[in-house]
Amino acid sequence: MSAQLTGFAYLASSVLFIMALKGLSSPETARQGNRYGIIGMVIAIGTTLADPSVVSFELIIAGLVIGGAAGTIIAKKIEMTALPQLVAAFHSLVGLAAVFVGIGAFYNPEAYGIGTFGAINTGSIIELSLGLAIGAITFSGSIIAFAKLQGLMSGNPITFKFQHMLNAIIAACIVMLVITLVGGQTEGVFWSLAILSFAIGFLIIVPIGGADMPVVVSMLNSYSGWAAAGIGFTLSNPALIITGALVGSSGAILSYIMCKGMNRSIVNVLLGGFGGDTAAAGGASADTGDKNAKAGAAADAAFLMQNASKVIIVPGYGMAVAQAQHALREMCDILKAEGVEVAYAIHPVAGRMPGHMNVLLAEGNVPYDEVFELEEINHEFATADVAYVIGANDTTNPVAKTDPSSPIAGMPILDVEKAGTVLFVKRSLSPGYAGVDNPLFYSDNTLMLYGDAKKMTEEIVQALG
Ligand code: NDP
Repeated sequence: MSAQLTGFAYLASSVLFIMALKGLSSPETARQGNRYGIIGMVIAIGTTLADPSVVSFELIIAGLVIGGAAGTIIAKKIEMTALPQLVAAFHSLVGLAAVFVGIGAFYNPEAYGIGTFGAINTGSIIELSLGLAIGAITFSGSIIAFAKLQGLMSGNPITFKFQHMLNAIIAACIVMLVITLVGGQTEGVFWSLAILSFAIGFLIIVPIGGADMPVVVSMLNSYSGWAAAGIGFTLSNPALIITGALVGSSGAILSYIMCKGMNRSIVNVLLGGFGGDTAAAGGASADTGDKNAKAGAAADAAFLMQNASKVIIVPGYGMAVAQAQHALREMCDILKAEGVEVAYAIHPVAGRMPGHMNVLLAEGNVPYDEVFELEEINHEFATADVAYVIGANDTTNPVAKTDPSSPIAGMPILDVEKAGTVLFVKRSLSPGYAGVDNPLFYSDNTLMLYGDAKKMTEEIVQALG
């Protein structure tokens, strides 16, 4: 393959990756976006394999078969709610790959055309050391994120005295080691850089609470992209540089969007201490004091919704846990058949990952034109007879507007309280992820429907029928 043709093929694959990202921005175009991504990846892999510097295919094919089979089995078996930890596990592999490429290039620079052992070109040794450091941080950080999300270690923030100072000292040492490695390329400096980078990846993630892990996973996604871009420089592969930069920047933008939706700063997330096990697991029972929450049954909910002219559905994390999306669609189909107007309101951080609710509703075959973002639908609660809040909590909590000292202060919320009646489907009065009690449970126009979201919705379907 000529150099021009290779360059053109890599450019085509990069354009396809950008089109894939654009497609993935909406559920309607997501499948097409995925197709663009697959075609782009096939072109990129094919072009790389056609490179004359590839000397044998046996190991490459063995890697493709083993990795492809493992990926297929894992993707088919994974539960939707376990996606954040799967993504963390995959990122750890990207980080490890960057470390291995760094080791390979350091010991055998001739194979990469970047100099000789101990005398690697200045530009290349800078790229290599940055790729090694970011890769090692991504690897150990992702392993901790995976362990916390999977429940293999406590989701609570692990903090100790002088933690931030220790991290700052290690970070300064890493910068010094990169500079030293550029000056004198010794094995001792190289391995010290690798070890300290692994250590800081571990240390910056342990103090972060389990419930903040999705933001961390998105941040590690960004790191893994920059690590891949670093490998791209070492391997002189423009497709890898562009793809790495795309992943790096989109991961950073996603982390920013998630923090904005939660009204938190990234620094606040990284310094940890928010959202440990208690909040992540749904929280301890709220202190109800002398307040009373009215409880209703499926039949009450069916009666209220059957007699409504407009019902707005507000899904949240509990719907994902209960996998209630199919029962929910069934319930809405019956209501629509009876002439009730139905719409779905999606909060930007509902659930535990961006787009979580959109994906589940699409899986439940909910028509896309019934699904609205917060700013599109929020004004409609005032004209709705019923808000059916299914497994959502923080995203409806008016404390965000009234208490500036609350952890969710300033977070935009869905104004469900403006609906004629608010039906809350959840198992108890426990708070949600942020651990903040929701005063709406005790409002005059609220009816609590205690139970599992799927079971309760199925009971309502029966009562409607
Ligand atoms: P919340 O976490 O506020 O509340 C979910 C509620 O679901 C809980 O109160 C729980 O109550 C209930 N629940 C759990 N299991 C079930 C079940 N099987 N059946 C019925 N109910 C159930 O969810 P929201 O979606 O409203 O808010 C998301 C929160 O997550 C926000 O605070 C957001 O900042 C945060 N977050 C979101 C991210 C994202 O990207 N989307 C990333 C990181 C954090 P009970 O135990 O009583 O049943």
